[in-house]
This record gives sequence, C-alpha cells and structure tokens, in this order.
Amino acid sequence: MKNYDVVIVGAGPVGLATAIGLQACGIDNFVVLDQTTEFRRVGQIIDLLPNGLKALKSLDNAAYEAVKKTGLDFSQKTRSNPDEKTPKWIQRNFQGEEIQSFPLSYDTWFTEYGEGRVSIPWYDLQTTLREQLPLEQVKANHRCLNLINETETGTIKLDFVSNTAKVVNPYAHWSNPQAESASDQSQAEQSTSVRAKLVVAADGINSTIRRLLYQNTPYAILGEPDYSGFAGIYCSGLDDQVPDKLKAEIQSKFLQHQRVVTITTDKINSIDNSRIVIFCLKNIWGYFIHFPIQLEKLESTKSQNLVDLALESLKKDGFPETIREFVSFSVPAQMKSRLYYIHRATLDDTLKFPDTTNLKHCIGNQLPWGRGRVVLAGDAAHGMPPFLAQGANQGLEDALVISTLIAKVIKKNQLSDEKAIADIFDTYQSLRRPLMEKVQQATLNRSYYNQGEKLAEYQQQVYCRDFQQLRASLI
Ligand SMILES: Cc1cc2nc3c(=O)[nH]c(=O)nc-3n(C[C@H](O)[C@H](O)[C@H](O)COP(=O)(O)OP(=O)(O)OC[C@H]3O[C@@H](n4cnc5c(N)ncnc54)[C@H](O)[C@@H]3O)c2cc1C
Repeated sequence: MKNYDVVIVGAGPVGLATAIGLQACGIDNFVVLDQTTEFRRVGQIIDLLPNGLKALKSLDNAAYEAVKKTGLDFSQKTRSNPDEKTPKWIQRNFQGEEIQSFPLSYDTWFTEYGEGRVSIPWYDLQTTLREQLPLEQVKANHRCLNLINETETGTIKLDFVSNTAKVVNPYAHWSNPQAESASDQSQAEQSTSVRAKLVVAADGINSTIRRLLYQNTPYAILGEPDYSGFAGIYCSGLDDQVPDKLKAEIQSKFLQHQRVVTITTDKINSIDNSRIVIFCLKNIWGYFIHFPIQLEKLESTKSQNLVDLALESLKKDGFPETIREFVSFSVPAQMKSRLYYIHRATLDDTLKFPDTTNLKHCIGNQLPWGRGRVVLAGDAAHGMPPFLAQGANQGLEDALVISTLIAKVIKKNQLSDEKAIADIFDTYQSLRRPLMEKVQQATLNRSYYNQGEKLAEYQQQVYCRDFQQLRASLI
C-alpha cells in the first residue's frame, strides 16, 4: 500500500489545481485519483472569470497561461463573427429589446477588472490542467468508496475500486469471446487502498468523501447535496422541425445576428421567473430554460412531458407566442433536464433550507469543511447552481488557499501535528467561507446582484481582489 503526504480525490478542475499548487510549492508526494474509467470528453462549457483566472495565475503561472490559451483558442474557433471586436451576450425582453448585456471578450474584462474572461469546455480545462502534472500522479479508474481514520499512525486509509473489465475485441484472431467475457466478469472490479497524511476531497457535488466525513455526526444529513429549487431543461437539434418562417422571425426579433441570446421578463432581477437561452450554432437550433420548480414535479416528469413542462413555465411567465411555438417543436427524445443541487456555505435563515433548527444547536451556522485530516474543496464543499458562473472559479480560489497552506505544513514537518492541521483548515475556512456565503446568496437571489449598485459591489468583491497578496500572506 502506497503512502502519500496528500491524496486528492477527484481530478476535476479543483483537484487538479490543488495538485498543481502543491507541485508549484515543491511538494511532490501526492497523487490525484479519479473515478472515471478513462479521461474523456464530458461536461459543459465553463466561463472562467477574473477571480478564477487570478487565483490560477497566483497558483502557477504556466498553468494559467496554458488554460488562458486553450480558452482563447476555443473562443476564437466558436465566435460567430471573428471580426467582431467586442462580442456580447445579450439579454432581451419579450419585445426583443436589449435589457442587459455582458461583454464576452477577454480584453474587455481585463480592462475592467485587471484580468480577463475565457470560456472553456470542462474536459479541455481538465486536460490542460492534467498536462501540468506528471502522468503517474493523476490516475483514472479509482473510485473512492471508503476512508478509515488510523489514529495510531496519524494516517487516513482510503479504499478505491477499479474496473478491470476489458472490452472483448471482436476482430481478434483465435480468441474465445465467451471465455474472455467470463474472465472479465470475474475480475470486473479490483480494490486498492492507499494511505495519506492528508486528504483533499475534490470529488464534486455528489461527494463520497463529504458523506463519509459527516456520517455519524449530528449533521450527517448535510453530507447529501440539497436540491436548490431550480432546474434546467435543454433541447438541441430543432433545425429540421422548426419552419423557416419561424426561424426567420426568431432571428430578426431576438437573435439579431447573435449566435445566442437570453430572453426574460423585463424584471431581470426576479429569480422566480423562467429565462430561456436560444441558440443557433452552425445552423443547429436549440434552447435551454432555467426555472424554479418543485423537485417532485420534475422527477415525476417523463421526457415526453418535459416539452409540456417547458411550455407551461413559459406560459406562466407570459413569454410571447413566437418563443412558445419554437419550444413546441422540441423532439421529446432529445430533451434533457437537470436538477441543480447545492451544498450551502451557511445555515443562515435567510437562505431557503430544510429544517435545520436542531443542527444549529450543534454546529451554529457553519458546517466544517475540514475534520481531522480531511478537507473539502470546490463543489464538494460548496457546489451550487451555475447562474453566476462561479462554481469552478470559487473552486480555483479554494485550490490556491488550501494548496498553499498544506505545502506550508509539509515544509514545516508538521504532518504529525494535529493542531497545526486543524489550524490550517480553520484558516482556509475563515478565508473562503464569507465570500462563498455572498456568492451563494447572489446565485440564489438574483435581485441581490442584478441591480446597478449591488451589481457593481458584487463585481468589485468577487473579481477585484489581489490574489498575489493573499498567497503571500499564507506562506
Ligand atoms: C450547466 C453548468 C454550467 C456551469 N458553468 C460554469 C461556469 O460558467 N463557470 C464556473 O465557474 N462554473 C460553472 N459550473 C460549475 C462547475 O462545473 C463546477 O463548479 C466545477 O466543475 C467544480 O469543480 P470540482 O473539481 O469541484 O468538481 P467536478 O468538476 O465535479 O469534478 C469532480 C471530479 O471528482 C470525480 N469523482 C467523483 N466522485 C469520485 C469518487 N468517489 N472517487 C474518485 N473520484 C470521484 C469525478 O469523476 C470528477 O472528475 C457549471 C456547472 C454546470 C452544471
């Protein structure tokens, strides 16, 4: 069984950035283990905003440059009009009037906040970050199932399972597929264990480590992600269904030469209304809708009825006939829905919550993000709906703080000192939690951030901090 100073569970952006941060500080006895059987193209497109990019730059300049380049190349490839100097994402009201817009170019954000913005597919971000690390230190096919605190040795034992089944090659000569598949079945799963002095749980919103960390505590219930109250419905490939006349109408009234547009009520600050994003990318038409909905209602809806549900929500919110007609051409087989979950940064009453009165007696307003030798980062600590594009950005901030603090403990030879470890976990939380509370509040409550002064205040607080100074203060 291998012994590591640090085991990072999860090779998403946050786990990998944490590893890069350790490496940049000269720490090398770590490994990143991920459950995926192989690294492959999955996930959505992510906006990296000034705070996430600044955090990455402070963590490791080479990683920052590589991610920035991948993002800029992606934007260049996908831009509808490559000559357009200041591309924007426009929000329109039901009459097609512009009510708000966000610049999309790196340079415009850079001028405003001292750092830019790039869009990057999740897999490209993962690949670019993986490339900054030695191959043998980032391993797929390791699903963490359990961890055991070995107090006598001051280590954590982590148990993983790997899938060893191989696909039978139908073109192989002299093979016996029956025998091969029988042997594959017998060794379809293999268990491995490793030991770590410290564990960083970066295993996402549905974190196994979080559940294990909180089990047998009064707040075990909060090991599970909580439904946020919001969901998304997505459909693409409407090109052949929608009549040309209707496409032309949507083009002239709403898209107006953009590839993508958000349409919402004039009350842009209302979270209780649906908003639809319509896109036409290389002649592929589609949309996604974000709306508040009861969990049970969406869970019990079959894919055929998702169209009805989408239409119902648009009708309730007074969307014009053109938009509703467009959505009515959705192909049920191509409809997808997604429930958004959250790990709340605070148990404060101002957020919508299950009944946590009893929990508050035990832990006050705050769930611990670190216990013993295990610490949560990224979505495993504070995952949330993507309405403000902050999940990965906040996770990169976590990575900067926790990797710098862990490196400090290792360099000071304090891995056996439980008090020193508890202290860095406290520092990590006290630095990261107050901002997370604000960002989550803004995410769940659009009125907080979508008005002039509040918006400016939010942008100042989130995008304009000096991360070099922050890092220097942690060393
Ligand atoms: C539609 C959508 C749009 C988004 N847009 C943005 C955006 O524009 N900007 C932004 O900043 N954020 C955005 N986000 C959020 C962002 O994707 C997440 O916040 C971010 O990916 C979190 O990173 P992470 O590394 O913490 O977790 P993840 O990206 O979820 O990675 C977790 C990793 O852990 C692995 N894992 C899970 N369980 C185990 C286990 N038991 N053992 C081993 N490995 C395990 C998984 O395979 C995965 O690789 C969006 C999210 C969605 C859903």
